[in-house]
Amino acid sequence: MSGETDDLPPLREIVAAFGLDAKKSLGQNFLFDLNLTGRIARAAGPQDAALILEVGPGPGGLTRALLTEGARKVIAIERDERCLPALRQIADHYPGRLEIIAGDALGADVAALAGDARPARICANLPYNVATALLTRWIESEPWPPWFDRLILMFQREVAERIVATPAQRAAYGRLAVLCNWRCETRILFDVSPSAFTPPPKVTSSVVELRPRAAPLACEARLLSLVTQAAFGQRRKMLRQSLKSLGADDAAAILAAAGVDPTARAEEIDIEGFAALARALGERRLAP
Ligand code: SAM
Repeated sequence: MSGETDDLPPLREIVAAFGLDAKKSLGQNFLFDLNLTGRIARAAGPQDAALILEVGPGPGGLTRALLTEGARKVIAIERDERCLPALRQIADHYPGRLEIIAGDALGADVAALAGDARPARICANLPYNVATALLTRWIESEPWPPWFDRLILMFQREVAERIVATPAQRAAYGRLAVLCNWRCETRILFDVSPSAFTPPPKVTSSVVELRPRAAPLACEARLLSLVTQAAFGQRRKMLRQSLKSLGADDAAAILAAAGVDPTARAEEIDIEGFAALARALGERRLAP
């Protein structure tokens, strides 16, 4: 179905007809280029049997691409009520294939929305102000492997680099990279220039793919989050110092149990190291 368009009115006409001038407070940077929305949608394919959850459909450019590319069903969560009439027009055009949820995606139980439908994935041009909060929520979800088999998401390039970073990319490597790469294989698919958006943002964007690992290294997400928070919270300090915020007596014992050099800094520790630290923290907290 690649490259197909629908016979709905052009997006610019829809935006004008429904008065959808972009609001900065809602992170609204719309995509009108069908080649680009098609390319993003195809990155989430093949979609013939897939349920796609989309956050922030706005006037519906990517939504339409997902539907023309063959998504079995799209569930779209949009916070801006002004967009709902435009989205209803799309829903009428694709009977039974577009469900619109009016509300805040941060408060949505997306696993419940997806239900038992498989394959299921998330594809979105995310509102930048809540993009990492949403991603973190999805990556920390339990149980794992999760209900989605892929995340195809647009971020600011700088955030995309922080998602895929390894210790070799020192400046970008941090909590987000540890969390994402612990549970997923991550990669940047392609960049999107500011001029592709209306209005254009100040920076380049990137589409990122995250594929859940079936068996991530054993450790609890909550403990990994605590350890990385302590370690990267004071990233210039040695771990024997920065991990003291976990409990003054714990730092040395946890580092020894995990076999991690106490004089190393957070940005030198790979995911195996952080997973070992999280396990050691869990065992220490269980100890009588
Ligand atoms: N998908 C459209 C496109 O590609 O042209 C719009 C993308 S725009 C970057 C982000 C969209 O997310 C906007 O429509 C905005 O209203 C919506 N949005 C912002 N915060 C949201 C939230 N917390 N929950 C759901 N939607 C939100």
